[in-house]
Amino acid sequence: QVVAIRPNRRISHGSITEDEEEEEDHDDVVMLEKKIRTSSMSEQALKVCLKEIKRLKKMPQSMPEYALTRNYLELMVELPWNKSTKDRLEIRAARIVLDNDHYAMEKLKKRVLEYLAVRQLKNNLKGPILCFVGPPGVGKTSVGRSIAKTLGREFHRIALGGVCDQSDIRGHRRTYVGSMPGRIINGLKTVGVNNPVFLLDEVDKLAKSLQGDPAAALLEVLDPEQNHSFTDHYLNVAFDLSQVLFIATANTTATIPPALLDRMEVIQVPGYTQEEKIEIAHRHLIPKQLELHGLTPQQIQIPQVTTLGIITRYTREAGVRALDRKLGAICRAVAVKVAEGQHKEAKPDRAEVGEGEDCKEHVTEDAKPESISDTADLALPPEMPILIDFHALKDILGPPMYDMEVSERLSQPGVAIGLAWTPLGGEIMFVEASRMDGEGQLTLTGQLGDVMKESAHLAISWLRSNAKRYQLTNASGSFDLLDNTDIHLHFPAGAVTKDGPSAGVTIVTCLASLFSGRLVCSDVAMTGEITLRGLVLPVGGIKDKVLAAHRAGLKRIIIPQRNEKDLEEIAAHVRQELSFVLAGCLDEVLNAAFDGGFAVKARLEHLNSKL
Ligand code: ADP
Repeated sequence: QVVAIRPNRRISHGSITEDEEEEEDHDDVVMLEKKIRTSSMSEQALKVCLKEIKRLKKMPQSMPEYALTRNYLELMVELPWNKSTKDRLEIRAARIVLDNDHYAMEKLKKRVLEYLAVRQLKNNLKGPILCFVGPPGVGKTSVGRSIAKTLGREFHRIALGGVCDQSDIRGHRRTYVGSMPGRIINGLKTVGVNNPVFLLDEVDKLAKSLQGDPAAALLEVLDPEQNHSFTDHYLNVAFDLSQVLFIATANTTATIPPALLDRMEVIQVPGYTQEEKIEIAHRHLIPKQLELHGLTPQQIQIPQVTTLGIITRYTREAGVRALDRKLGAICRAVAVKVAEGQHKEAKPDRAEVGEGEDCKEHVTEDAKPESISDTADLALPPEMPILIDFHALKDILGPPMYDMEVSERLSQPGVAIGLAWTPLGGEIMFVEASRMDGEGQLTLTGQLGDVMKESAHLAISWLRSNAKRYQLTNASGSFDLLDNTDIHLHFPAGAVTKDGPSAGVTIVTCLASLFSGRLVCSDVAMTGEITLRGLVLPVGGIKDKVLAAHRAGLKRIIIPQRNEKDLEEIAAHVRQELSFVLAGCLDEVLNAAFDGGFAVKARLEHLNSKL
């Protein structure tokens, strides 16, 4: 039947050029066959390919399957079945590369070096898959890239965020029109070797859908027992992935499918302190941005105080990504100035700078008296380097986005600062309470989860049962706090969903402040779960929370006693600047949260003696 189609086609369209075309294609197919035979693919793959090429030879080109089969065969030839780069692994050199590329992150670097050292000693290590977990912009991807660099391997990043179809990982069967191999095989084709470093980015953002569970497909990819014969649906033959080095990154372990998490060794990458950020900016980010914008240190100068200003007033993050962007914005503004300066050199009569551009004008104003800039024919115009100070910062980046508003907001009773953990790092969180005449109702706002709502109820119950002890009264002087009184608790920012038990102590403190009319100290932040009996239970994410409090300029931090061990992870200079209160029960929390304490006994004794 196939043979019959060919002459037909010739008769119907019968031109010479078409004949030639067909001849050419035939040659291509022969070439392809030759390539297949000389390629180093596995025996199984070779068998399949030869069968396909046989079919291809008999197939008319007009059939859609022709192109499909050809694409398939071309991919098979291109895949790096046996091609690999040679590992050059020398631990000392690896340490230098890691240290040169990254400031701080000692724990992570230590673990990575251990991992590499074991690889050096035992070649085909079926070791754990490292998974870096931390907020965005703390250098997870960049460490992955450094690992590839130290090993001399190719690097390929596979973004898994939002992937909800297992064929994204494992490919589509070739029966579909437009079918493609999955991202793993595609990645191998891109890098052209079979032992690259694959960075599986954002494994915590995998989703499930009707098209199957991509996490299950990843399991097969990551399992050293299975992945030597990984079968992509498109290829339909096994490909050996055992030489690939997989590294995963995530913002949180909470949403990584448990089976997948089980295969990986989680390494926490916490956020940076202000001092670390300054160092990172000056050692890495600024030189990188200067190079990107074609500037030199002779043209722009960013002092450390300015960097600190950007960190505290223009960014609020655990990593350094926003900082990097702000530095980029500064470089762009300066680039305009520098380019303009060069232009002016060519045309001595200075072009007027438009009113709308006064920001860029300002940048130079700080460093350059007008008179000097008029002598324009020097290689480096005299206003260089352009100094970026606070005025320049304001002109380029606009008014500061974050102010130290903490103390302002604590100027009334009924406000306390809690510490929250989010996948983006730690954050400070205000809790506000107010009371009004009513029927003893509690209103909670700020998109709270069930656990947080329960914490609020717990807090109120505990305060009600201890009202007498602490001399807390409602507006009409009764110890029954909810008598004729409604309470409203709000957790800004109202649009962000919040949940978790660790706000318990903050809610108690906030309400204690409301009912006692006393102000909570403005430099205190706290975290801890509470029980109905007034005990304070340990919570997670202490390191990120402490760093957030430090960023916000708070001084005293109340944490559960049983979290004491977590303080060891915090850098010594941060610890020195903060004072920690380890609280085992709510009495201790309240004592530490109010200036002069929230003493029970003293007041009671005083009261008793009066009576
Ligand atoms: P992540 O993958 O954690 O979201 P990236 O690896 O993309 O973050 O890092 C963002 C940027 O910050 C990169 O340009 C990286 O080089 C830089 N960076 C982060 N941490 C450090 C560090 N400790 N030292 C030097 N540069 C860093």
